[in-house]
Amino acid sequence: MSDIALLPQVEAFLRRDHGLFIDGHYVPSQSSQTLEVINPATGKVIATVIDAQAADIELAVASARHGFKQWSQTAPAVRGNVLLKLADLLEQNREELAQIETCQSGKIIQISRAFEVDQAAHFLRYYAGWATKISGQTLTPSLPSFAGERYTAFTLREPVGVVVGIVPWNFSTMIAIWKLASALVTGCSIIIKPSEFTPLTLLRIAELAVQAGLPAGVLNVLTGGGQVGKGLIEHPGTDKVSFTGSVPTGIAVGRAAMGAGLTRATLELGGKNAAAFLRDVPLETAVNGIIEAGFLHSGQICAAAERFFVHRSQINPVMEALAQRLSALNIGSPLDERTEFGPVTHRQHQAKLEGFFATARAENNTIIYGGQPMDRPGCYVEPTVILANSINDTLLTEETFGPIATFLPYDDEDELLALMNHTAGGLSASLWTNDLGKALRMVPAINAGTVWVNMHTLLDPAVPFGGNKSSGIGREFGNAFIEDYTELKSVMMRY
Ligand code: NDP
Repeated sequence: MSDIALLPQVEAFLRRDHGLFIDGHYVPSQSSQTLEVINPATGKVIATVIDAQAADIELAVASARHGFKQWSQTAPAVRGNVLLKLADLLEQNREELAQIETCQSGKIIQISRAFEVDQAAHFLRYYAGWATKISGQTLTPSLPSFAGERYTAFTLREPVGVVVGIVPWNFSTMIAIWKLASALVTGCSIIIKPSEFTPLTLLRIAELAVQAGLPAGVLNVLTGGGQVGKGLIEHPGTDKVSFTGSVPTGIAVGRAAMGAGLTRATLELGGKNAAAFLRDVPLETAVNGIIEAGFLHSGQICAAAERFFVHRSQINPVMEALAQRLSALNIGSPLDERTEFGPVTHRQHQAKLEGFFATARAENNTIIYGGQPMDRPGCYVEPTVILANSINDTLLTEETFGPIATFLPYDDEDELLALMNHTAGGLSASLWTNDLGKALRMVPAINAGTVWVNMHTLLDPAVPFGGNKSSGIGREFGNAFIEDYTELKSVMMRY
């Protein structure tokens, strides 16, 4: 097993004295606070970035307000073309971006290439198409005419203004691109605050955005901790926050946004998603489905399943076959192209997952496979399979955001639906069966923003995505994002 060689431009990028990206170029901070970026596969510091402070927030907001003025007046077709050009540039710099991402997040290189670059480019092109298709309606008012006068009305979709995009560490590029594309295509400007654990790839993409023709100030990137996001939301010069992250932080963000004079808020939050296998599913399909639903990117995907429901008659064979499959996984360095399972993204997350292993044991859950940190440098934990005792066990109620699949058997489908819905969140769920009629009858009874049948986790820009219940407010993708990034203005006329 051996790592791919880092490209010279990746080495050079990591060595840079990273600034904040404000008004179309890197600028030093107004203060001297910094944060270290650590490669979770090695535990080594790979770069240092600025921990932005209040004075930096002022500069970024002023820049974004200026950018908004120009960009909101830019012709829609021109806006779309910039996104198309940026998609091309992502692809032209694919390997460089993928390697930077893998070094900062521990994501295996194949996932960095396929999702953080290729999928991000695919999303950009999808959004670019919307640039020329966002419009209002012509309406006929219902007022009676008193003296022969007539009325007509129409609506305009106007950009909401300066958007604050707050991004988590699991897909630092792709999620940032969702927010950037939604904002730019509707005529908004944006300030993005990446996670303190994974700020690097976006700093490089900001440069590419300028190369793509984006005017100064339309995209700004402020690195730093959570206080940067809070400061941006509370600033009177920002108009909307698009947040992706955990439920507790999302609630704090929502409160801050409302307190800041009803700043608009889209919240894409976590969940405790279910995957349910009906009796007709063959064993191999079930095992493949569980791997797809629960273990991709070490389970660090908001839409991944963490609660698995299998019919009581099949639970033991499924778990045995799953344990066997996991034991054959190629676990190793994320820069080795043969690796199938890498580290989790940061030390605190690794510690949190180890805490879940301890809780499972304390609650007398059965650890079928894994359940330990791995004896190697870096933030590795074993892929883990747990059999719970009750739907109220911690491992079936709290989001782990890691490679831990927790199972509970069910006896009939009414009970199954109740178990699937027994959760505070409602981001996603999947049903696995060859009985399509049964699946379509069950789908309406599942309380989740997305329900997949015979698949899990795959997101498509044409299909709206977002959470029910505590998993969030608002939808991304499809045409659903337009409502969240624009205000509807009504114009009424008498003649
Ligand atoms: P967090 O909620 O901890 O952080 C998300 C972002 O918010 C980070 O950039 C963080 O900054 C920032 N932040 C922290 N505190 C505040 C605050 N008070 N005000 C404003 N911003 C703040 O989530 P994680 O980064 O740990 O990501 C994992 C979570 O994200 C999981 O719960 C997962 O389910 C969810 N998620 C949801 C998705 C969805 O689409 N529904 C997609 C992906 C993930 P910093 O980290 O720099 O401190």
